[in-house]
Amino acid sequence: MRYFFFAERKSLTLFFSGGWFSAVSLPFFGGLFLFFLRSVLIPSLFYLSVVFPPPRRVQIILARKLARFFWRSNLEPLARDIVYKPRYSGGMNLPDLRFVLHLYFVVMHLHLFFFDKSRAGCFVRYNLGFVLRSLSMWSPSNVSPFAFTPPACYVFVKKFLLDRQMCSLDPIAWKSFKVVFSFVSSSFPVSTLPSMAVERSRAAWSAMSHPRLLGLHRDLHWRAAHEVLPTRRALHRRSLTPSPACPREGCSAEEYAAHVFWDCPFATAVWRRSLPCLHHHLQEEQLTYRLVMHASGMGPWQPEQWRVIWCIVSSVKGALWDARNILVLRREVLRPVAVWRMACKAVGDYYHQDIRRKGLQWATSVWLFDPP
Ligand SMILES: [Zn+2]
Repeated sequence: MRYFFFAERKSLTLFFSGGWFSAVSLPFFGGLFLFFLRSVLIPSLFYLSVVFPPPRRVQIILARKLARFFWRSNLEPLARDIVYKPRYSGGMNLPDLRFVLHLYFVVMHLHLFFFDKSRAGCFVRYNLGFVLRSLSMWSPSNVSPFAFTPPACYVFVKKFLLDRQMCSLDPIAWKSFKVVFSFVSSSFPVSTLPSMAVERSRAAWSAMSHPRLLGLHRDLHWRAAHEVLPTRRALHRRSLTPSPACPREGCSAEEYAAHVFWDCPFATAVWRRSLPCLHHHLQEEQLTYRLVMHASGMGPWQPEQWRVIWCIVSSVKGALWDARNILVLRREVLRPVAVWRMACKAVGDYYHQDIRRKGLQWATSVWLFDPP
């Protein structure tokens, strides 16, 4: 049991360190909070949930604090169920502490139930036997006593297993939290993008959270696809700004994510500036709304070539959003050439990242040009 606890705790630490934490850039106090969360709070809760699921009140407070930290605001523009999903399903991998702690408790006790021969195993079999028998997960023998009234902390187990459709899992899976967790993660429904089927949406979400992208760009793609960027239209809906119109002079259209990155005449001018670089990999007609907004291209690109295109597109989107914020917050109007120069800085970062990874020759062969 002790071995199980320490082995699983290691995989849980990896799970939390590889999740959405890598997607956000944090100020100093945000980093301190994260350190406290990962080093003190989460391990303590896992230790507690070996014996009892944490109290409901604590779970609600924690979920609220985590959501507030994630959005950096009291307003939550997107349902938590979506944010909790894995990235390839359209979520942000935000840890659903309530679910993970319950799952940890269930995995721990089913591990003891099926595989432990010690007194702890006997205790769990006696108390949990009735629940598992009613779910057809266990057939008792004549020499296995079990209680017909399970203790209070085991009552939720039946509903939990039924809700997550985990009754059909092979008992061997209950040996590892990681295996059970990956089974549950794969059953999350994919958030479909406009006029895209499930499989294409899944591919698009995976591309938007490509591990080689900067965390800033991954976050931007995800927020733009879910329409949760603080654009004028989104703010106007909450009565936080008097007009939903685009802040650019001479543009009277509503400002929403696709407008900032594609429809606005200013965005068109910036994309035109980027064409000399993109021409090494695609034709002008292949630079479409779908490619920019939903990472869904039409060309027969190799994976590395597609990554380069997507890095350039991400850099331009990042620069467009920065330019928009500079205009709104500092009242400074940047010219398209200045925005393209900002994008070039990010493109150069991606290029040098490739040089560090596999050398100059390989990077040049993939990029086909020296980023300006
Ligand atoms: Zn505009």
